[in-house]
Amino acid sequence: MINSSVLSQIKTIVDNGKFLTSQEDKISYSYDGTPLLEFFPDAIVKPTTTEQLSRLFKLANKERFNIVPRGSGTGLSGGSIPVENCIVVDMSGWNKILEIDQENLTAWVEPGVITEQLHKEVEKLGLFYPPDPGSMSICTIGGNVAENSGGLRGLKYGVTKNYIMGLEVVLPSGEIIQCGGKTMKDVAGYNLKDLFIGSEGTLGIFTKILLKLIPKPQTSKTMLAFFNSPIDAGKTVSAIIANKIIPATVEFLDNVTIRSVEEYAKIGLPTDIASLLLLEVDGHPNVVEDEAAKVVECCKANNSIEVRTAKTQEEALKLKAARRAALSALARAKPTTILEDITVPRSEIAVMLQKIDAISKKYNILIGTFGHAGDGNLHPTCLTDERNKEEISRVEKAYAEIFEEAVKLGGTITGEHGTGLAKRKFLHLVTGQTSIDVMRSIKKAIDPNGILNPGKVFTIS
Ligand SMILES: Cc1cc2nc3c(=O)[nH]c(=O)nc-3n(C[C@H](O)[C@H](O)[C@H](O)COP(=O)(O)OP(=O)(O)OC[C@H]3O[C@@H](n4cnc5c(N)ncnc54)[C@H](O)[C@@H]3O)c2cc1C
Repeated sequence: MINSSVLSQIKTIVDNGKFLTSQEDKISYSYDGTPLLEFFPDAIVKPTTTEQLSRLFKLANKERFNIVPRGSGTGLSGGSIPVENCIVVDMSGWNKILEIDQENLTAWVEPGVITEQLHKEVEKLGLFYPPDPGSMSICTIGGNVAENSGGLRGLKYGVTKNYIMGLEVVLPSGEIIQCGGKTMKDVAGYNLKDLFIGSEGTLGIFTKILLKLIPKPQTSKTMLAFFNSPIDAGKTVSAIIANKIIPATVEFLDNVTIRSVEEYAKIGLPTDIASLLLLEVDGHPNVVEDEAAKVVECCKANNSIEVRTAKTQEEALKLKAARRAALSALARAKPTTILEDITVPRSEIAVMLQKIDAISKKYNILIGTFGHAGDGNLHPTCLTDERNKEEISRVEKAYAEIFEEAVKLGGTITGEHGTGLAKRKFLHLVTGQTSIDVMRSIKKAIDPNGILNPGKVFTIS
């Protein structure tokens, strides 16, 4: 527990009304989007300047309390869950788009800007910021950078790291650094910017982010392909890419997910099919026509029973919104929803889907799988009840096996949600112990007292 005299010093650093300690506030900040994890902070602060943040870090080093940064708290690996002896630093109020530079195609933003708001602002100018996590209507750019988040457009456009040109970071020492900038090329010194991307709030707090923008694609075509077998859907993904077409979006939904989404969104999906692919191609109108036709051919050649093409932009948006609602739709079925995030090489998707199916049968648990199939990124989602301890223990064993199988196929335990608290015990499966030791030494060099989000990604020892 942070003692009351230190809490008063913290309070004097931030403005009035930006220091919260009520029980209701502690409850609100005790969890994020990750199931089965919660912890109460000693206080929540909402600093408004980098100078305040810097002073908070200096005090934390002196008085040895911990700081946990937080955006919107939608994280799915426990990154913003409070730890012992900590204050939560809520960055969601830092929500200004500071500059959109149409000559250099960049935008300076504060970390609390909501991802979808940025999309809307830049698209008014004919520009495009591609990363679009399923949570884009609520998550922050700061959280996206800290998790290196992906989204539905990852296959063609890449993930958050591909659009970060510069960062202003307050280090755990309280010092402030800038890395990167508007130049397209810069190889001066170590690439510190990329070290901070995906650092899960453990190496510094971002206070300004410079984003790369691109021209908005002229047009797009959205399709839904239905399959009687998930294996055929998996093979279709490989076939499309082998045909040298890189769609913007290739999303997979299995039967459990389709039924949940249809019950939730009522958009006329057939509920008796095994799986579907949501596909979108975008770019120049001629190219889009040609690629869409080839995508349809690939689907048919791999036993698709029907391919529907959205006739209007509104219909396309509705289909994509339904996919984004997959997690919320599944979550309605049972009291506890545990969503995982494995990624395998694209060529192994069909095999991985078979393995997930076999594992869910072996442990007699209900798993719905959806995900960014074009990236090989699948979200096997277990619908369960945390009050049933015996079932939860089977769920944990099943996920441990799923992680092992993904790694055996050349994949990873997390493609976009991060390691955080939830998956740190599995990290060695992917990285090996030596890499974890290297990560620990980097953490020690930047945060020698271990005051910033300790215990996330790996334990500090
Ligand atoms: C319904 C749903 C759908 C989702 N879909 C996707 C998806 O498609 N792709 C995907 O990648 N993720 C997805 N997520 C996960 C989540 O939305 C992302 O990880 C997102 O980037 C988290 O942003 P946030 O603002 O909520 O961050 P938080 O959850 O608040 O924090 C996440 C991490 O970032 C750190 N952090 C936050 N702000 C800062 C800052 N300013 N400086 C330094 N560190 C900071 C925190 O300490 C924590 O470690 C989904 C989540 C939900 C609930």
